[in-house]
Amino acid sequence: MSARAGRFPLLRLVLADATAGRGWRDDAACLGLDTELFFPVDDRAASTEPPRRVCRGCPVRAACLADVLATEDPARRFGVVGGTTPGERRVLHRAGLAITTPEIGGDVA
Ligand code: SF4
Repeated sequence: MSARAGRFPLLRLVLADATAGRGWRDDAACLGLDTELFFPVDDRAASTEPPRRVCRGCPVRAACLADVLATEDPARRFGVVGGTTPGERRVLHRAGLAITTPEIGGDVA
């Protein structure tokens, strides 16, 4: 468990459930896709929409987002992950408890 999750008890509970093991990666909608798609040239909507479209239909989006929020280096956020841009993950990280909402699998970003 990361130190970040330890600061937010509710976040810790979600992470414990959502990231239990890494088997969820086997069901990722991006599995086998060109990773370049998830690293757009900028954060403009036109650039981020293609990877967001993939993430919106991903059955493991909540686990993916929980995992990246728990493990990503705050100084090195890159790409669209869990349907979010680096700037959006920065906001979620600062908010901490936002990740605990059950709707996160479908309504984030
Ligand atoms: S939410 Fe997006 S980045 Fe995460 S596993 Fe699914 S398709 Fe891949």
